[in-house]
Amino acid sequence: MNKEFYIRTFGCQMNVADSERIKSLLLRDGYQETANPEEANLIILNTCAVRKHAEDRALARLNSLKHHKKKNPKLIIGLFGCIPTLYGEKLLEQFPHLDILCGPNGIGRIESLLDEAKEGKKAVALKEENGLLNAGCILAENKKKTFLPIMKGCDNYCSYCVVPYTRGRERSKPSSQIMEEIKNLTKQGVKEITLLGQNVNSYGKGLSERIDFAGLLKLADGIEGLERIKFMTSHPKDISQNLLETIASGKKVEKQLHLPVQSGSDLVLKRMNRGYAVADYKRIVKNARELIPGISISTDIIVGFPGEKEKDFQETLELLAEIRFDFIYAFKYSDRPKTAASSFEGQVQEKEKERRLEEVFKAYKKAS
Ligand code: SF4
Repeated sequence: MNKEFYIRTFGCQMNVADSERIKSLLLRDGYQETANPEEANLIILNTCAVRKHAEDRALARLNSLKHHKKKNPKLIIGLFGCIPTLYGEKLLEQFPHLDILCGPNGIGRIESLLDEAKEGKKAVALKEENGLLNAGCILAENKKKTFLPIMKGCDNYCSYCVVPYTRGRERSKPSSQIMEEIKNLTKQGVKEITLLGQNVNSYGKGLSERIDFAGLLKLADGIEGLERIKFMTSHPKDISQNLLETIASGKKVEKQLHLPVQSGSDLVLKRMNRGYAVADYKRIVKNARELIPGISISTDIIVGFPGEKEKDFQETLELLAEIRFDFIYAFKYSDRPKTAASSFEGQVQEKEKERRLEEVFKAYKKAS
């Protein structure tokens, strides 16, 4: 039987890493990857629910796959990632051509899900909790760089963010497992690894060993064969002096920090439930620049958060001018189900969000 699969990934680096894992499990199971969905007997969409736009694109793609299924009734279609955990089994009614629904924590069950789908059943894995711990690290193709998740989920519940509802509670991998995985990857020729977590600065919470993210970076820095270590994402409320010193002293640690600020207004940060004030953020950046000369600092910004007044927005522009980021990722606020902010008053009009987004990019360019 033809065992060719096609996979399309939407969203963040964590999803890219999840897709790598899906690929490696399928290759181990005798599948081959194809870039042409017409040739595939298995099509996987690994989806993102962080913004409505990404969700709409993924679901439109899923809808269009019904034509493939008509042409090839043996085709298995799997919806993976954050959309399945956000909306659950009702997606199977909405898209009857869908065979597999699998959340980020169910990837380890892919073989049994495929077996069920081949028997004509609807296969569902939305709640498995051990997905990350079983993570494999066989690369689907020869690569010099790769992502490596060191933790899963998030406990922060920023009021705009759907991740705690789609990826579950935060859980760290034991450091011994991460080191094993890094060694394995370097044996396969990898030179650069990006350690991934929704909030790497809280790495180690809940583990029986006493380790934090700085400790993990030090261990990784000593691994032979590895040439460069990057990491993301850092949460300003959890960044420690020890971590900044470790970035400064690490021989292989890239001198860069992606530190999402989201807004330059204390009022908005409070409503976002971010756990820091603008002054705290400025202090961290000043400290990082003093300790690590030449460090590259990037950030995320959300414009048009519910209740963001013109004055709040101007404070974001002032922050951009003052900090002079090396790079920014800026987005219009996107209303997401289950999040606290979706019921907040003061939703900002789409046109106004667009104007603010343009202004943000202009301010960034002017400052850089
Ligand atoms: S830290 Fe906040 S924004 Fe980041 S994943 Fe967790 S809840 Fe979402």
